[in-house]
Amino acid sequence: MSVEKVHCLIIGSGPAGYTAAIYAARAGLKPLMYAGSQPGGQLMITNDVENYPGYPKGVNGPLMMEDFRNQAARFGTEIRYGLIEKVDFSGTVHKAWADDGKEIHADSIIIATGASAKWLGIPSEDKFKTNGGGVTACAVCDGFFYKGMDVAVVGAGDTACEEAAYLAKICKKVYLIVRRDEMRASLIMQNRVKNISNIEIVFNSVTDEILGDNMVVGVRLKNTETDVLSEIAVSGFFVAIGHDPNAGIFKGILDMDDAGYLKTTPGTTRTNIKGVFACGDVQDTVYRQAVTAAGTGCMAALDAERYLAAKEVPATV
Ligand code: NDP
Repeated sequence: MSVEKVHCLIIGSGPAGYTAAIYAARAGLKPLMYAGSQPGGQLMITNDVENYPGYPKGVNGPLMMEDFRNQAARFGTEIRYGLIEKVDFSGTVHKAWADDGKEIHADSIIIATGASAKWLGIPSEDKFKTNGGGVTACAVCDGFFYKGMDVAVVGAGDTACEEAAYLAKICKKVYLIVRRDEMRASLIMQNRVKNISNIEIVFNSVTDEILGDNMVVGVRLKNTETDVLSEIAVSGFFVAIGHDPNAGIFKGILDMDDAGYLKTTPGTTRTNIKGVFACGDVQDTVYRQAVTAAGTGCMAALDAERYLAAKEVPATV
């Protein structure tokens, strides 16, 4: 197995990883990026991004990520389309093993592995989520496209409540589909959605099928107590059943919260291991936006640069 030595290894792409790469490359750190299994991250499955500053007409998610990637490459980031499968942060030099057989020894590591939305896993969901057909996992990203329409949100946690409350301001009616007879969300969030007049909470219901040919036209629900099927007409279907941070390989190595998100020192991107920084959705349980991910990516590169300067590891220009 060949060993490569680098100043800065970036694990993961997406807005956080690419922004970290732009800053790290411009600072002369010659970053090496392993872009992961879905280079570009969650934006690769987002059709139109309308809330990222600088794109007044909106931008297609994959095209935006191509711009980010080109900008990172322009300043000398080496981008590889592979996965880091294992890490060891116990020594002075941090080690990582990639699926291309490389062993990488890095003076600093920036983790930008993101989070993945959980999906219901039913065939009709797959059919509509890939082609902008009306199934999405982000109300802030896509809610605007359903202005004045009826939509459904599935989930019963804080995210589902937030999404429903957000959509209620834009849409005519929002059905909140809850699989049990109670919600998991904090009481304050439950009360908020209960007090919004155009939100109807449908308890004890699971999604049997999302209906439509090319676009969503409705949802068939199954009552979990009676097994009775019913249909509601909606144009958009928002899945809000949680996210999984992509942090499995760091388990037992980096500090995480109960849900598996990496912990960072507030106001920084520092993890509990010196020289290892985390940015973007893998450490963000609150905002989860492309622009906030990019912001923390910038922070991670600056934190890494300062860490290396303090250690007197010279940057190469
Ligand atoms: P949660 O794990 O808290 O909730 C997921 C919800 O989805 C649960 O109600 C669960 O139902 C439901 N669910 C899971 N699988 C299915 C399925 N197959 N069909 C139907 N429903 C399903 O995830 P969240 O993303 O809501 O929250 C994650 C964390 O982030 C929480 O700690 C939350 O408090 C926090 N958060 C905080 C916010 C804030 O402070 N502003 C905003 C958003 C999130 P069940 O209850 O039956 O298991």
